[in-house]
Amino acid sequence: MSEMHENDEIHSKLIIGGLSVDVIRKDIKNLHISVMPPNGRVRVAIPKHVNDDRVRSAVVTKLAWIKKQQNDFEKQPRQSEREMVAGESHYFFGRRYRLEVVEGKANISIRGNSTLRLTAPKKLTKEKRLKLLDEWYREQIKEKLPELITKWQAVVGAEALHCGIRKMKTKWGSCNTSDKRIWLNLELAKKPPECLEYILVHELVHLLERHHNRRFKDFMDEFMPNWSLHRDTLNSSPLANENWVY
Ligand SMILES: [Zn+2]
Repeated sequence: MSEMHENDEIHSKLIIGGLSVDVIRKDIKNLHISVMPPNGRVRVAIPKHVNDDRVRSAVVTKLAWIKKQQNDFEKQPRQSEREMVAGESHYFFGRRYRLEVVEGKANISIRGNSTLRLTAPKKLTKEKRLKLLDEWYREQIKEKLPELITKWQAVVGAEALHCGIRKMKTKWGSCNTSDKRIWLNLELAKKPPECLEYILVHELVHLLERHHNRRFKDFMDEFMPNWSLHRDTLNSSPLANENWVY
């Protein structure tokens, strides 16, 4: 959810000390190094006028810290790719469900406290089963959204013109501030509900402040005092087998 405003940013890559580093030049005052979950990708955000040599020396200076962060991410639990077969674990709003597969007309439903039932024609491919699940996840977020949007727009005091859900490989959410358009990652359906709420608030706050600066953080502290707790929950819950960064 960091790279909101790609129009204003210049992206490039550098290899430093054997590390592939994403360099993002944008309208900021200081250099920031981040190691992104879950795979420890290194990202350096810098003011537009700063040159590559300055980036190199900054990364080299922080190399031990970067390695430490990357090791920490490696220790995090990770979910392998789902096959959509009976007995598999699936997550829905932070809870773990066991997949049950029943033959019939394509459908997904929750049974009791811990069963996710896939009803599908026998010959339905794994890809189509996964697609069915994605659509189901999308519907579940869609059902929750209107209430959340109403609640948080009132708190934040800003309105999004559009709030959609889509699969994104690299962001939990994004906000196009000029179109007032918010996108939330479909994957949030697997995380505890407060994560969806946190990302929604984060993106709404971008309507007030485009950058992740002091003002942005002050807004977050004001509207959602325990936001960092939610961020930590998001980062520590089992991850999908994809290259998440945010
Ligand atoms: Zn952001």
